[in-house]
Amino acid sequence: DLLVVGSANADLVIGVERRPAAGETVLGSDLAVHPGGKGANQAVAAARLGARTALLARVGDDAYGRLLLDSQRAAGVDTAGVLEGGAPTGVALITVDPSGDNSIVVSPGANGHLTPADVRAAAGLVRASRVVSAQLEIPLETVVEVVRSLAPGSRFVLNPSPPRPLPAEVLAACDPLIVNEHEAAVILGEERSGADPEDWARTLLARGPRSVVVTLGAQGALVASAEGVTRVPSVRVDAVDTTGAGDSFTAALAWRLGTGSSLAEAAAYAARVGAVAVTRRGAQESFPTADEVEALTGE
Ligand code: ADP
Repeated sequence: DLLVVGSANADLVIGVERRPAAGETVLGSDLAVHPGGKGANQAVAAARLGARTALLARVGDDAYGRLLLDSQRAAGVDTAGVLEGGAPTGVALITVDPSGDNSIVVSPGANGHLTPADVRAAAGLVRASRVVSAQLEIPLETVVEVVRSLAPGSRFVLNPSPPRPLPAEVLAACDPLIVNEHEAAVILGEERSGADPEDWARTLLARGPRSVVVTLGAQGALVASAEGVTRVPSVRVDAVDTTGAGDSFTAALAWRLGTGSSLAEAAAYAARVGAVAVTRRGAQESFPTADEVEALTGE
């Protein structure tokens, strides 16, 4: 079983001709409200593939919190671990201009109130999970507590997004650490050596995780472990919106690891899931079922 520990946000999206300057008002399109946040996205992505999935997260006692709970339940996610209150539900205010560029303001809200004590209170859920997946849209000390609460033999998967330097204790637990190019650059900091992603993967591995996956968009991914670095090809598709590709990739990989796949097999499956997701608009709306992944053709 898969447990996702992470954020849940309402994404509030307005299309604009151009962004307002300070003190200015512009008119925009009708408001669109979408369930989002990396934790909520990963849980929906895994459940839609057929994974038995639970979410440990915090939302406000408000309408956006109910929207998030409803979308999790509709996808089949176990929401017993979704806590309510402490602050309003996290929100992302997104304006999109005609060229498709986003400007985003995030209010973490209740996500910032998911505490180590919440993790300790959910210790039974954490210990019962074969794979636990986290991101960094919640406090880092909460992620540290997750690592400390893992059952022996269970597996921890981390997508450090938004990226920041990680304590050795967290790095050592990752199997794998999953990063895109931007996240790899921030975590490597000064130690970034050249432009070759294979070098980044090796350098990241030397920092302590048991394995590393570097995602490279349309170029697929790299898998690095003690056995070496292998390349995972992407599937050639017509991409229309890459939102949520990384979340669906991580969720699919975490689920497949829990079913006994090797890291390379799990990453190859995850690349197919990410490829379907980029052919559709939106985040949670774009995540495929296992049948849709099966039906994807092309190399
Ligand atoms: P993130 O969204 O975190 O930046 P990526 O863009 O690297 O992550 O995408 C995650 C994975 O989704 C990639 O490793 C790849 O397998 C798949 N993917 C992303 N974009 C494309 C694309 N244009 N064509 C095919 N697969 C893609």
